[in-house]
Amino acid sequence: MFKGVFVDDADEAYAGVMSTPGELEFEFLKVCPLTAQALAIRERSPDVVALDYRLDEVDAGIEAGHTYKGSGLAQLLRDVAISNPAGDFSLVLVSNETKLKAAYDPDKTAHDLFDKVYSKEEVNENRDLVRKELNALARAYETLRKMDGKFDISTILASNDLDTQQLDSQELRRSFESAAAPHLIVRQLLRNMIERPAILIDDHWACAMLGINPEDFHLIAPVLQDEGVAYTGLLGDGWRRWWSGRLEDFSERIFEDRLSGLTSAERATKLSHALGKVIRPNASPWNDSVDEYPVFSCASCGRPAELRHSLAAYDPRAPRYATRRRICWDCIQKDTYKHLNSPLEVDETDEDLIGDVQGMERAVPKVAYD
Ligand SMILES: [Zn+2]
Repeated sequence: MFKGVFVDDADEAYAGVMSTPGELEFEFLKVCPLTAQALAIRERSPDVVALDYRLDEVDAGIEAGHTYKGSGLAQLLRDVAISNPAGDFSLVLVSNETKLKAAYDPDKTAHDLFDKVYSKEEVNENRDLVRKELNALARAYETLRKMDGKFDISTILASNDLDTQQLDSQELRRSFESAAAPHLIVRQLLRNMIERPAILIDDHWACAMLGINPEDFHLIAPVLQDEGVAYTGLLGDGWRRWWSGRLEDFSERIFEDRLSGLTSAERATKLSHALGKVIRPNASPWNDSVDEYPVFSCASCGRPAELRHSLAAYDPRAPRYATRRRICWDCIQKDTYKHLNSPLEVDETDEDLIGDVQGMERAVPKVAYD
């Protein structure tokens, strides 16, 4: 069984909410002075440690001037992990939403210290999902600790010969080979491969490639599983992902063409024939048309969208091997991309187009696909 530690001033109940009995169980630790806290955590040899951000607001018998934030404690624990990678563990931030927005967001350096950031509201509302992710993190660290510092990218990602070409990026290979501790592999994998579509893609992006209505994805997901398109490497048990190269290979066999050369309607028709069930095409978020050529999923709303009805998002942290994020015109016109938990901005290359899109008349929706 995996061991979790939850450090907070109050809210002891969250230790139970995050636990999966028999699999990963969290122990609650009250806030105490920094060095003693770090020691108390490490003595327990945890697999996952969850911290609140504002540990400094607590009156926990800590002398004035000796208080610290969750990020201060996290930094200390991460430094120790670099010199002792065999004892490395997952660090996640769990704080309430207003504290996260007020205190954590501007502190960008803290982002890299934690594998995941959860609001307490999110932990409450999506218990199963959060537990699944925490369990996956615990398993990932166990696997990585056993690798004894030799982080082989193909083993970690469970890649096959077909994927080799996609993984042949100097930046990507080096980030795995030069990692000094498990948390650096997890950060690379989560930030650049799981949370960012490129080599691995999520369900929405897969729908964009297949040109299908996301509501019908459940009809094709089992087929993709059988065809070996699913990502089964590290953290794949916490976040469902697909290999984009394998999906392209699969779709080209069915479409007998490059997918970018077919409209949603054409792709959905071919898929429906091949699978013997009706799969509805994607309707463009901009004009509702099934005759567009979707190739990506909008970074704001997640719907499959086409290049000509989208703008580039400001994406300074994108590695060279990743696809740049884009925002669909519907989200631009409705301004929704500015009001996400992690708000997006339009890239300056497309900035002068925002006004045009916002003032544009919407096309009359075409008649639904039959
Ligand atoms: Zn959108």
